Amino acid sequence: MRFLPVFLDLSSGHVVLVGSGPQAIAKLHLLRAAGANVRWFSPQTDVAEELLLASHYAGRIGVAIGEPVEDDLAGALAVVTAAGNEIDERLAARARALNIPVNIVDRPDISTFIFPAVVDRGDVVVAIGTGGASPVLARRLREKIEAILPARIGEFAALMQRYRSHLAAVRRPGFSLRRFWERVIDGPIGAAFLSGRSREAETALIRAIETASMALDDRRGVVHLVGAGPGDPDLLTLRALHALQSADIVFYDELVGSDILGRGRRDAELVFVGKRKGEPGIGQDEINRRLVEAARTGRCVVRLKGGDPFIFGRGGEELEHLQHAGIPVHVVPGITAALGCAAEIGLPLTFRKEATRLSLVTANTAEGAAAVDWSGLSDPATTVVVYMGLSSAEIVRSGLTAAGRDPETPAAVIARGTHPDAKAAVGRLRDLPKLAASVGEGPALLIIGDVVARSLPWKTSEARAIEVAA
Ligand code: SAH
Repeated sequence: MRFLPVFLDLSSGHVVLVGSGPQAIAKLHLLRAAGANVRWFSPQTDVAEELLLASHYAGRIGVAIGEPVEDDLAGALAVVTAAGNEIDERLAARARALNIPVNIVDRPDISTFIFPAVVDRGDVVVAIGTGGASPVLARRLREKIEAILPARIGEFAALMQRYRSHLAAVRRPGFSLRRFWERVIDGPIGAAFLSGRSREAETALIRAIETASMALDDRRGVVHLVGAGPGDPDLLTLRALHALQSADIVFYDELVGSDILGRGRRDAELVFVGKRKGEPGIGQDEINRRLVEAARTGRCVVRLKGGDPFIFGRGGEELEHLQHAGIPVHVVPGITAALGCAAEIGLPLTFRKEATRLSLVTANTAEGAAAVDWSGLSDPATTVVVYMGLSSAEIVRSGLTAAGRDPETPAAVIARGTHPDAKAAVGRLRDLPKLAASVGEGPALLIIGDVVARSLPWKTSEARAIEVAA
């Protein structure tokens, strides 16, 4: 490590900036964002553009022409130069002689400090450096960190800053400030704030401070009911990722693959509560019981479900059970299978005038499929998506056609959508059982509606049919 990362307060003095190109201007904005007063030297004589930029920053920037001499540097907190020629080297030497930190843009070899890539969330700032080796790598890392940091993390830090002094007075045996803040950050208060319920979080924080009770009553956990999306881990939402990364324990279903679990916290406990083929699952009551039990030991619990928790996922029952048990619970929506599968094959589930209604139905058992009121789905402008219907394709077909849906309606069966081995078959409603038999193992969706004819597999199979005919 040649460069030590530090956070410098620039509001107490001034910085000398040299150069007039885009690099110098980028540094100008960065320095201003940190509140610096800037003395800006332009090697060019035409400084109209500089003066215009400076005028935006009312009085915090002075513009001068030419190369700064020793006297101009004296008293500066730092020198930043992007003149791009021998001026840079002269200035580097001059600043060093005066012991002023100097950065020459793109020349870490003669700089005494360098600028990191910065993730700026207000009070929360992350600096990433590669010692000047690869600014592009630093920027890439920054994008990754941007994606995993909750959007409201800066405001959350500001909230804690506001209340810090209120706690300083608490002197009680067994009370630990550090532990108090850890519980605020990792517990229900942090979860509520970061998911947008800032008022509720602040009220809870005030209450916690008033009683300073968390050190005594520190066994309160939280449950996140999280939708994992249809399979591809890149289709996790950022909030799902945050929940996974703060989990102590994850209860997951058969629809959730190891690549998704791999995105979670390394030392989280993973508990399978789904159904394996040919084996009965542990049952919903037992799942509910375990969620409550885990939360009551003060842990951050993630209940991870395929797709969206509220679409044929029994998330509603779990939510109510946890609410009745008095456990703080947060729901993180996920991309439901219908959306993931449709997107993957370019199938627009609605389409102006042609498909104006979308019905998600389930046909998980023969009785279930037989019980569906297909008459409500006979309208040609309704796209029907059937979940859990792979083995009920015959009943779906007869139900829909008996209700008056045209057997020539385009239909698709998509298995293992968004997984690497995804397979889609397209044809007509009258062939639905054949299509279902051709895609292999589930999970699979049946999609019936004119919009299927707009999907990529339909268009390519049509093209192939024309080729064959020709
Ligand atoms: N909550 C989930 C649905 C759970 S029900 C969601 O919102 O997606 C399980 C059914 O979802 C499966 O039987 C299948 O019909 C469908 N499904 C889930 N993942 C799928 C996938 N990757 N491809 C196709 N269908 C899927």
